[in-house]
Amino acid sequence: MTINTVDPSKTVVVATGNAHKLSEIEAILGAAPAMEGVRFVALGELGDFADPVEDGDTFCANALIKARAALDETGLSMAVADDSGLVVDALDGAPGIYSARWAGEHGNDAANNDKLLNQMADVPDAERTARFHSAVVLVTRDEDGEEVLVGEGDCEGTIARDLRGTNGFGYDPLFDLADIPGKRMAELEPEEKNAISHRRRALDDLVAKL
Ligand code: IMP
Repeated sequence: MTINTVDPSKTVVVATGNAHKLSEIEAILGAAPAMEGVRFVALGELGDFADPVEDGDTFCANALIKARAALDETGLSMAVADDSGLVVDALDGAPGIYSARWAGEHGNDAANNDKLLNQMADVPDAERTARFHSAVVLVTRDEDGEEVLVGEGDCEGTIARDLRGTNGFGYDPLFDLADIPGKRMAELEPEEKNAISHRRRALDDLVAKL
């Protein structure tokens, strides 16, 4: 596929390299009546573009940076991007927007989880509350300018004292779900996680605004 072969009026470029996120976004946003006939294409399918510098100070700002970069790079008129992470109350909201690279190396889940266990070692049970947060943005450009729609969602829980479960990714093995007592996020099947995840809730929030 090349940019020249897609219909710009019916194509949303999705600024993610993650196939799972693409299908989740496509399934939820694509079902909205306002998106009828629209096709969702991953940015990487349209070319080899460098990742933009995510130097925003909120999840939403970073999602916007990714969506706008995808529009600049492709010349298309609709883009979706998301940004997400873990927000821990006892750590004043850390790791937050730095979730992916908190322990130094981008995407090193084992190192990030070690760091979280260490930083939370002396935090009592009642103060271990946290949430996964997701911001999803849809940016549309036309000759009159730009329209931005934002969806936000949370998934509440607490930080455990050991790792459990083998599903999911990131901080899932340390995340005890508030909605399902006794269950760790990494113990959910993918479809169970998709039904309650922060991303799901952010996408639902966005769909409600379409
Ligand atoms: P991204 O926005 O999907 O790139 O996520 C940034 C980082 O936040 C990931 O590398 C994870 O460390 C963390 N994160 C985001 N969503 C989840 C999740 O559903 N489970 C566990 N960790 C997550």
